[in-house]
Amino acid sequence: MKGSCLCQAVEYSVESLAGPVYFCHCEKCRKAHAAPFNATAGADRAGFRWLKGEEHLGAFESSPGKKRWFCRQCGSHLVAEWEDKPYVIVRVATMDDDPGVEIKGHIWVSHDLPWLNYGEDVARYWEKPLPADAKAPALVHGNEITKSVDQTVKWLSQTIHRLLPSARIEHVGSSAVPGLYTKGDVDVMVEVLSAEFDDAHRALRECFTYNAEMAPEKQFVSFSGEHRGSAYGVQLCADGNKIGFVEFRDALRASPGLAQRYNDLKLQHQSGSMDEYRAAKAAFVEEILSNQS
Ligand SMILES: [Zn+2]
Repeated sequence: MKGSCLCQAVEYSVESLAGPVYFCHCEKCRKAHAAPFNATAGADRAGFRWLKGEEHLGAFESSPGKKRWFCRQCGSHLVAEWEDKPYVIVRVATMDDDPGVEIKGHIWVSHDLPWLNYGEDVARYWEKPLPADAKAPALVHGNEITKSVDQTVKWLSQTIHRLLPSARIEHVGSSAVPGLYTKGDVDVMVEVLSAEFDDAHRALRECFTYNAEMAPEKQFVSFSGEHRGSAYGVQLCADGNKIGFVEFRDALRASPGLAQRYNDLKLQHQSGSMDEYRAAKAAFVEEILSNQS
């Protein structure tokens, strides 16, 4: 297995890792790697080799006898060692091949900085969120784009049905409710059995691109793209993972009063701040769904 530094000047190989991977939070790792924690694992010294770029290596002795080796061109830390020990300590995040070992745990969390939160409650984006000054979308009345919406829904349904013949495919979102204003995109929800979710995820990601603003979750994955000039979203969820796309759509279809309120909300935020629009929309969706259950 191979590993390399950021600038690729230095490469190493390691036969196998001797133990599981730990995320080390100690202050020295935090500083050395400029990161909240460092993925680390032992490897047999006899199976470790520098493949190239040894002339670029530097070492820092962070404790007496412990050397941390890094590339002097780009600063990547690659391994650490105690010279008298029969193993080296690999910075696993620099490996280019999958080491095929389990993550065993977090160590030295006693050194964590209280503000440095990286837990489950921190938002995850596949790439990054919209900029803070992003404007809410310009709107078009749904009646003006029914033809292109129908075409996109048809194309999405056929494409997804070929990949996932047993999935439930529903046109959801504003373009699925007559009379709503919409930003012109088309959303479909794809629901599969929990047991089939991972296979469905793999099949769809061959065909679609992840939504840059959302990271895949265990039971929910969002894709987005464009087909013949129309933007679309594909929301894959596992059966039983109550997301409410269909319930929200049906509530609006059934009540002209709710649809009117949603239109008013959209128009009120048009070309205002995207964050404020999203917050208002989330509150509205939550209100509607809580009335459904
Ligand atoms: Zn380098």
